[in-house]
Amino acid sequence: MVYDLIIVGMGPAGVTAAIYAKRAGLSVLCFDSSMIGGYLNYIDRIDNYPGLYGISGPDFAFKLFDTMKELNIEYYNKKVTKIENDGEYKKVIAEDNEYKCKNVIIAIGRKMRKLGLDKEEELLGKGISRCALCDGNFFKDKDVCVVGGGNSALQEALYLANICNKVYVIHRRDNFRADKELINRLTNKDNIEIIYNANVKELLTNKDVLSGVRLDNKVEIDVSGLFIYIG
Ligand SMILES: Cc1cc2nc3c(=O)[nH]c(=O)nc-3n(C[C@H](O)[C@H](O)[C@H](O)COP(=O)(O)OP(=O)(O)OC[C@H]3O[C@@H](n4cnc5c(N)ncnc54)[C@H](O)[C@@H]3O)c2cc1C
Repeated sequence: MVYDLIIVGMGPAGVTAAIYAKRAGLSVLCFDSSMIGGYLNYIDRIDNYPGLYGISGPDFAFKLFDTMKELNIEYYNKKVTKIENDGEYKKVIAEDNEYKCKNVIIAIGRKMRKLGLDKEEELLGKGISRCALCDGNFFKDKDVCVVGGGNSALQEALYLANICNKVYVIHRRDNFRADKELINRLTNKDNIEIIYNANVKELLTNKDVLSGVRLDNKVEIDVSGLFIYIG
């Protein structure tokens, strides 16, 4: 079969494209290597989507999954490894199979940016995390820091503040670029301390597990967890 459209990535972008394509009468096939909903599955709470104020990311993702089912949109939980031109068609290679189509939409989101520090990769899962919703509970009643100054960083810091003893928010500038409402909530939280104009310079370890961070202003902070949201 030759599909009119193959969509790679079933985050909010891919699912939206799939809904429009299906309703326009196209034959559509979708792929995701992980879960429908993409990054939504890792977000604690979403406050900026009309009609769904306060919904949890996983609940929103489940609604997308339901919509896909309701519209009978064909979907495979497979990783697409290659897309090739094949004469007048495109060939999409997903794990062990090839699928033909006329058009492809690539909606695979983006990779999260790293700090670029020594040991950063080794310490993933040993103190470093990029998902407060997934890993926050490992740091219950402990001190952690969050790096970043946008909506994601502030949202995650607020989530962690309900679990952890203390949350340091380390931001490289002297003001946040996040929404005003989030900034207000952050500054009113007793167990959040904001450190402006600072960058994490070094990751400190004890027995191969994160034990703290050293900032470029030479200050050292003892923390068990470091959550990175810098884009
Ligand atoms: C901590 C955090 C909090 C956030 N909070 C909010 C918020 O409150 N409100 C808001 O509007 N936005 C929020 N965002 C941003 C929001 O999550 C993203 O804008 C949105 O998820 C982007 O959607 P997307 O479909 O482009 O990509 P993604 O959601 O990243 O989805 C991409 C999908 O592609 C799949 N994929 C990747 N490669 C392949 C491959 N080779 N084969 C098959 N599938 C593949 C992935 O598995 C994934 O499911 C937040 C982001 C973060 C990090």
